[in-house]
Amino acid sequence: MLLNTLRCDGCGRGPKLIEWLRAEFTSDGYAEWRHPGRIFREAGIPLSYENKDRCARLFEALFGHPPPEEMAYLCPECQEWALRELPGLAALDKNPGPEDRTIHQQPYYG
Ligand SMILES: [Zn+2]
Repeated sequence: MLLNTLRCDGCGRGPKLIEWLRAEFTSDGYAEWRHPGRIFREAGIPLSYENKDRCARLFEALFGHPPPEEMAYLCPECQEWALRELPGLAALDKNPGPEDRTIHQQPYYG
């Protein structure tokens, strides 16, 4: 049953009763619950293989934990949060990470 499997990838909550009722008794389903990839794309950061590490970092910065193996849904509140915060986080993430700043020191042969 959908109610048992639907979980927000961001905050981890399931549907509220009102959302569940609407999904069960109208044709809308969980129209307001959307795939995180659509939110990232709307924020200008499409999820792709090349930038999956970056997206994982951004996801973790947003929600405080790494993205699940298979992303499925974000609840409406998390979508709103992500769309508001992603542009700023993405701008910060353009700075080189620590791994890019590693200085390879030459061995010193005294
Ligand atoms: Zn959520």
